[in-house]
Amino acid sequence: AANTSVTTTQQWQRMDAQHHFHPFSNNADIRAEGSRIIERAEGCHLWDSDGKQYLDAFAGLWCVNLGYGRQELVQAASQQMQQLPYYNLFFKTTTTPVIELAHEIADIAPSHMNQVFFTGSGSEANDTVFRMVRRYWDIQNQPERKIIIGRKNGYHGSTVAGASLGGMPGMHKQGDLPIAGVEHVDQPYWYGEGGDLTPHEFGVRAARSLEEKIKALGSHKVAAFIAEPIQGAGGVIIPPDSYWPEIQRIVKKYGILLVVDEVICGFGRTGEWFGSQYYHLQPDLMPIAKGLSSGYLPIGGVVMADHFAETLAKGGDFNHGYTYSGHPVCAAVALENVRILKRERIVERVKDDIGPKFQQAIATLADHPLVGEVRGVGLLGAIELVKDRTTRLRYPDEGSTGTLCRDMALQDGLVLRATGDTMMMSPPLVINDQHLDELITKTKSALDKTW
Ligand code: PLP
Repeated sequence: AANTSVTTTQQWQRMDAQHHFHPFSNNADIRAEGSRIIERAEGCHLWDSDGKQYLDAFAGLWCVNLGYGRQELVQAASQQMQQLPYYNLFFKTTTTPVIELAHEIADIAPSHMNQVFFTGSGSEANDTVFRMVRRYWDIQNQPERKIIIGRKNGYHGSTVAGASLGGMPGMHKQGDLPIAGVEHVDQPYWYGEGGDLTPHEFGVRAARSLEEKIKALGSHKVAAFIAEPIQGAGGVIIPPDSYWPEIQRIVKKYGILLVVDEVICGFGRTGEWFGSQYYHLQPDLMPIAKGLSSGYLPIGGVVMADHFAETLAKGGDFNHGYTYSGHPVCAAVALENVRILKRERIVERVKDDIGPKFQQAIATLADHPLVGEVRGVGLLGAIELVKDRTTRLRYPDEGSTGTLCRDMALQDGLVLRATGDTMMMSPPLVINDQHLDELITKTKSALDKTW
């Protein structure tokens, strides 16, 4: 019998459009068409308010690394909430889940990084980076080193500093960004910008754009270079093998801090704990978030190299922090999340088993007439859609083909993400062989319908 008190999808949508202004959305479209309402999830699947099932090949927003429905995380939150639902870390105070979590992170981070500053998100982590880097150079008596260099199409969050460090033109346009003291250099996007160069040659050239920028600005004015190991939101841009060694050489030569944004790559996505380990990098700072708690609760942080933490400590008071820095309930969930990743050897599984299978599976889509390039590392993947595979010619209205393909996939019960005409995948790290088959069958069907 119909229950008259049940709210229908249309009623939800109307209420949502009336009162909820959405992030990263066209709110005029939402008023006209309504939003998708996700109601529950289990493992790698989601269900919407009409009961339709989707395979979540994007792990929420690159974050639900353990998949949905892990009872240990629910219990960790509930237990911590009863014992101590909130306390802050200011004024020489700490809490036990934060101590244990910092200890676990130091254990899995590169060996020269042993101290963590906690935040509530990846954007807050990068705002923290902005202030930490300048504070560091002040303490080192080089206050003129203020400029931080990011990359075109990089993504470091949506706060004013985060969006400035990022290099998304669409974000810079809104709010007159970047703020002063931020510059940008090339991204190592060989398929789109490599021209006639080999990937190796192009990787070196893209890296050298950093050296040219440093020289143009005056190296004594440059504080840091910030980059994602693999650009995520910018289109899963896998750098050629020559890129990172050349960047590492340049930052060392000019004595510039290296900030490696691990918000997506961290916690197993590449088959190593951090992208820095995958590419053998020596970061001074690593912003983290997302996979730290598998997205179950909001928490982020900045992992610091020993020399950096020592210098900052030497400087006395650090006048920075958030009410929810290292929130104890979020920290307890993150702690249990990291322990499960360890106990179940999930990072190793990405490296040796499911990661290679995923890469092989998506590579089979490269023959499709709509596909220009398939690329990926670990459980990150991208499929670039082009009009002409030989000339790499794009479709005229950039983004419309990607959006169409994404919508076709949604119709078939598959969540992918499109940036421009690049389809991106970042499934939960617990995805299995059966899910992989579903992913490939549905992606292929979406490509056929788009073509
Ligand atoms: N850094 C990177 C590399 C990201 O991909 C993101 C989010 O997608 C952020 C920072 C910002 O994190 P948050 O959305 O938690 O503020």
